[in-house]
Amino acid sequence: MKIPLKLITPPGFQHYDCTSCGDCCRGRFAIVVTQEDRDRIESQGWTDEDLDLDGKPLFTRHGDGFQLAHRPDGACVFLENNLCRIHAKYGEPAKPVACRMYPFVLVPLGDDVRVDVRYDCPATAKNLGRPIADHRKDLQKLVKPALPENAAELPPPPLYGRVKLTWAQLSRVTETFERVLLDVSLDITRRITACVNLAAVLRHPRIATLEGEEFDEYLEDVAAEVQSTAAIDTLRRKSPSGPEHVAFRQLAGLYSRYDRVGEKAHLTKRLSVSLAMLSGKGAVPQLRDNFPEITFDQMETETGVPTPEAAQVLERYLHTHLSSMGFFGPSFYGRNYLDGVNSLLLTYPLICWFARAYAASEGLTAPNASCIERALMIVDHQHGVTPLLDIPTERFRTNMLTDRSALRTLVIWYGS
Ligand code: SF4
Repeated sequence: MKIPLKLITPPGFQHYDCTSCGDCCRGRFAIVVTQEDRDRIESQGWTDEDLDLDGKPLFTRHGDGFQLAHRPDGACVFLENNLCRIHAKYGEPAKPVACRMYPFVLVPLGDDVRVDVRYDCPATAKNLGRPIADHRKDLQKLVKPALPENAAELPPPPLYGRVKLTWAQLSRVTETFERVLLDVSLDITRRITACVNLAAVLRHPRIATLEGEEFDEYLEDVAAEVQSTAAIDTLRRKSPSGPEHVAFRQLAGLYSRYDRVGEKAHLTKRLSVSLAMLSGKGAVPQLRDNFPEITFDQMETETGVPTPEAAQVLERYLHTHLSSMGFFGPSFYGRNYLDGVNSLLLTYPLICWFARAYAASEGLTAPNASCIERALMIVDHQHGVTPLLDIPTERFRTNMLTDRSALRTLVIWYGS
């Protein structure tokens, strides 16, 4: 058994510390437990009366395994006054691994483990707390219980098709995307269009024939080329085609889903949301509790590129996910590297779309940083998490929207 041990945390721009909001314990997630978690919790001697279980089991089935039981309102049975009773009585290490891990995600890459973070956690989205590197000691303890035994031996997924690179080469490709994303001489929308172009240019068999300095020089050249093209891009807004518009709205509907654990599927409501997203006429349906009242037409208006403050939030989110390299392979429905990059870039227009609704509800003509943070919490709750994004219809929809021309159109349409 070989467990990779070298932890790589995102650069210091991303912070996190738990603010005890209790959001992650209130039924948005199934708290899947390992056999060790079950044994440990059972040995803690919780009684039916302690947890007010009313004769119901403490663990319920979840696929082939088990999850912690939830109360009728969706809250975990151990949540009391926004605090975890296991944590309070036995300390943090006594909690299920899934709880200790959230909002972090460990991404094994050969001998390294990169740390990603989820933005459906309000503290992450708002960048509250200490730099993530300060959590290194705690994260190191989770490497062994959280990763599969063969994590260090997992082969690198293809760059695209059957084109394979080494982990080190994929890291260099990632650094190239980061360089383009962080080019502050360009506004954020131009930087994203440059990344879209970079992903398209790299889909070329030549890359597989290069090694060492030649490989690095090739990446330097293509990065310089897409950056100089973006610098003179007029960002002409062209409406997405009818089918692209429909597919985009339906994808936004999927990303907005907020099913609570144990909640009975409200089919009528889902169907009416789906039909409204399909038609794209009149009022945008209530996609979440307290979702702003806004019409579809308002969502299509020109806003200008995000302000520097709003852009900083988008940059932080994209940079963290890029640098963690958790956007492809086993961490992202088994997709190859460039499909994973494109799916990540597609979250840019999605985030801008949701942020427009929050901006309009506050009488703003364009989203500010707070609107972007709220939109991030929606989009990142599903990205790479919901199994729905992996069904054939959604794969087809994502492929259609991540075609170079469609993706560029969406990035400019909703990002300006
Ligand atoms: S076990 Fe504790 S930390 Fe985990 S979901 Fe329940 S209350 Fe939250």
